[in-house]
Amino acid sequence: MIFWHLGATTLAVRYVYRDPAMDLRWVWAGALLPDLIDKPLGSVLFYAHFGAHRLFAHAIVFPVLLFFVVLVATRRGSPLRKGLIGLVIGTLFHLILDGAWMNPEAFLWPLFGWTFPPADPSALWPLLRRMVSDPLVWAGEAAGAVYLAYLWFGYLRQTDGWTGFLRRGTIPLPIR
Ligand SMILES: [Zn+2]
Repeated sequence: MIFWHLGATTLAVRYVYRDPAMDLRWVWAGALLPDLIDKPLGSVLFYAHFGAHRLFAHAIVFPVLLFFVVLVATRRGSPLRKGLIGLVIGTLFHLILDGAWMNPEAFLWPLFGWTFPPADPSALWPLLRRMVSDPLVWAGEAAGAVYLAYLWFGYLRQTDGWTGFLRRGTIPLPIR
């Protein structure tokens, strides 16, 4: 699910952090990162080994470790640190929006052992087929896309549109 993660994460960070300078490009990268890591590993490259499409990057230890690495490896106040913290926030929201805690064995990995609970289906094509035929997936994608369209009409269309957004990474906040 792409628009669900992008739309719902953007909505959440806009209202939780209310930071007009927050670079949403990093947040968006984080919002997709767990799937970009785990799906290729679990469903394609090492399918025979894992038999699961939610692996390390869908465990809470992933954003926590990422956060510590960012704190250790970047300078305080630097734009890189700000961006990477946005990435960690996006990753955290990905886990929340996936309902990752509902599968404690995977969410709290490796507390219950080093293996991941097998998922059915986990192979790429059956998984994609299942997602395409799931009305909940479509509803989530539609909701995310509607929210992004709302942002475009409400905040970006009058100014420099998506190209400006991709250059800056920010969307103005509502005035109150
Ligand atoms: Zn996911």
